Amino acid sequence: MIIDGKAIALDVRTKIHEEIRAIQAKSADFKPSLTIIQVGARADSTTYVKMKLKAAEEAAIACNIINLPESATEFELLNHVQKLNESVDVDGILVQLPLPAHIDEAKVTSAVLPDKDVDGFGPFNVGELSKKNGEPTFLPCTPKGIMELLARYNVQIDGANAVVLGRSDIVGKPVASLLTKANATVTTLHSKTPQAQLELFLSQADIVVAAIGQPAFVKGEWLKEGSVVIDVGTNFVDDATKKSGSRMVGDIDFESASTKAALITPVPGGVGPMTVASLLENVVIAAKKHHVKNNAT
Ligand code: NDP
Repeated sequence: MIIDGKAIALDVRTKIHEEIRAIQAKSADFKPSLTIIQVGARADSTTYVKMKLKAAEEAAIACNIINLPESATEFELLNHVQKLNESVDVDGILVQLPLPAHIDEAKVTSAVLPDKDVDGFGPFNVGELSKKNGEPTFLPCTPKGIMELLARYNVQIDGANAVVLGRSDIVGKPVASLLTKANATVTTLHSKTPQAQLELFLSQADIVVAAIGQPAFVKGEWLKEGSVVIDVGTNFVDDATKKSGSRMVGDIDFESASTKAALITPVPGGVGPMTVASLLENVVIAAKKHHVKNNAT
């Protein structure tokens, strides 16, 4: 069965919209707002920012975009973050990654106030997520979306053998933490994992999450029959039949994997839409907290 991330994301976004309208019916000044800072004009970043803007607007979330030139300094960017941290009109702040090489990403993501850190990349939220009984205010959007997909399809995580391919701060590590919290036995594989071991672990995995950025890397024959396969990868490969000359594929070889998996996400239309929906959920969490705080003072 193919997991319909697009439909689930639409359902999440519709519920967000309804929730915002319901709160506004009682409290007209409830106006969730997100500010995205983009430095430079990478085509992929611009596409992601536009997707977030459109989804936010559809859900009745005000979304402002600050475009800084590629040459912007770290100091300038940190100044913008500081102003947004101090603004009572801003609930969520998102600095679109990757940043140009001359800017320290960790320094910038750490500068966002924890209660506006809707990407969940700052040290407070990352730290809380890694603690056994931690309480992050925000979960990072892609991992949160993946957990929602698993929940919607009633995937048994407790006691499952899960393999996460990739150990990045934004996907691999937080997914592994969330699966561990949900009582899966989790193995994280990465580029230094020998191929034979990688195939061995995959052959025993009930749940596979692939986030490595390698087109169609995971083959169906490596997977366990009946496994649940979540493909995070977004890779572009040449395709002369497409007008653009390329097409998007995941990290899983969908054709062979779908003959083995019981459940599998497509690319596109799987994890991607859930990332955006989870971001909007985080903005509403932030807005509700700020609303309570502002009304109490
Ligand atoms: P990173 O490049 O930050 O991390 C990639 C990870 O994969 C690293 O840990 C790396 O290992 C590991 N890796 C690379 N090659 C192999 C290999 N051959 N075998 C095993 N492990 C390998 O990527 P991200 O986590 O940021 O993103 C991963 C993919 O997910 C990308 O395609 C990205 O575009 C996509 N993505 C999609 C999102 C969505 O919403 N759909 C959101 C975020 C990302 P090592 O640590 O040893 O280098």
